[in-house]
Amino acid sequence: MYALSMEYPSKKQTKLSLVLFIASASRSGSTLLDLLLGSHPQGVSTGEIRRLQGFVLQDKGLLALDDENYPLTCSCAKPLKECAFWMEVEKRFGASFKDTGFKTSQKRSWRSLLMAFYLATGPQGVRVLARAFSPVRKEVEIGLNCLRLHEAVSLVSGACFVVDSSKSVYHYMLLHCAAPKLMKLIVLVRDGRGVAHSMVRGTRAKKWQEGPLPPFLQASRQWARTTKSILMLSRRTKPSDKVLLRYEEICSKPLEVLNHMAQKWGLLPWEDSFWKELKERHIIGGSPSVRFEKLLDRLEPDNRWKHSLDKELLEGFEKIAGKLNRKLGYLS
Ligand SMILES: [Zn+2]
Repeated sequence: MYALSMEYPSKKQTKLSLVLFIASASRSGSTLLDLLLGSHPQGVSTGEIRRLQGFVLQDKGLLALDDENYPLTCSCAKPLKECAFWMEVEKRFGASFKDTGFKTSQKRSWRSLLMAFYLATGPQGVRVLARAFSPVRKEVEIGLNCLRLHEAVSLVSGACFVVDSSKSVYHYMLLHCAAPKLMKLIVLVRDGRGVAHSMVRGTRAKKWQEGPLPPFLQASRQWARTTKSILMLSRRTKPSDKVLLRYEEICSKPLEVLNHMAQKWGLLPWEDSFWKELKERHIIGGSPSVRFEKLLDRLEPDNRWKHSLDKELLEGFEKIAGKLNRKLGYLS
């Protein structure tokens, strides 16, 4: 564990100049966006870095996974302890992944208090509090651990930006407190009806069997809660350091969306050949159906919800999250 007194960046010869963090609700296309961003010759994808320790320990409890069949391998299909890329990253990182915390273990109520403090005082205020209050210091150290991991990834891959699709906006906050100047925030949104429909489909349906409302409406509530907290916490990031991307636009006009971002943050322009070529990838976490894709030659949005939701469910969604969905630009 690194001490908080150690400032970021460290003295290692790294080219790392940006960390692109994707904050989103689950089932919003974060893995697809991670792959598109990481296809850039200056960049590298890592997936959900906050899950790294759980992947190394093969610990589904630590990962809080509902899916018993979720694969705990790198996207190269090897377990992390046999993947040459992650073995080299661990060496450069300089500490065992097994013994290093990359995600919070604090309870939701405690996290809510820290988020309220961050909203009130910003990253500098949290850093001041961390000096006096050890539970907060431990949280900021998690952010520092992740940033040093990004640095090691950059050293091994030669990339100058690293993509972290950990999704959790609380986790983003920890990184932002650790190194505000390095972080770029990508708020990824998708039509809430599509998200909630995807959250209750297939094997994921089991999670929603209990409860007073139909599964789709329970999922709609969760989507609204997560999305509101992402929008709220993103207020503490300067407009020049954040973008809002829509999943549907990423699929329909990827170059326009990605190059708007490239221009904003001084990256070389994207070309669609970037993601149509085979590139070595070592991604953890995220959607298995996308993570193990070798080529992204078709970017078709998943619009199954448009033909699957009856009038009653759509009316229920409208009551729960209609206003929020419209605020994000989903009008009909
Ligand atoms: Zn690998």
